[in-house]
Amino acid sequence: MAKTGKTEKAIEIHEFYVIRSTSGALPALCVECSASDAIMVSPEQAAAVANVPVRTIYSWVEVGAIHYKEGPNGSLIVCLKSLPHGRSDPAVAFLNPPK
Ligand SMILES: [Zn+2]
Repeated sequence: MAKTGKTEKAIEIHEFYVIRSTSGALPALCVECSASDAIMVSPEQAAAVANVPVRTIYSWVEVGAIHYKEGPNGSLIVCLKSLPHGRSDPAVAFLNPPK
């Protein structure tokens, strides 16, 4: 009689978004914004910050509503500052992630 080893994992979903660079490198800055805190993030992160679906981010990119840039590996990054709901708070959270 084999028992099914079922592992239950509690998944905690934090409402507070903490954006961190996976490489630990400094975030890319938007070249179209002259502000020093106009950081570029992935569409997923931008969606979390703007509180919209990721596909909305892509549609904004398509119509040129927000600043964006394609990374060397083809990945897309978008400018937080140009988001319709962009605020300075997320950038601060990005640069100084809470422990
Ligand atoms: Zn920008």
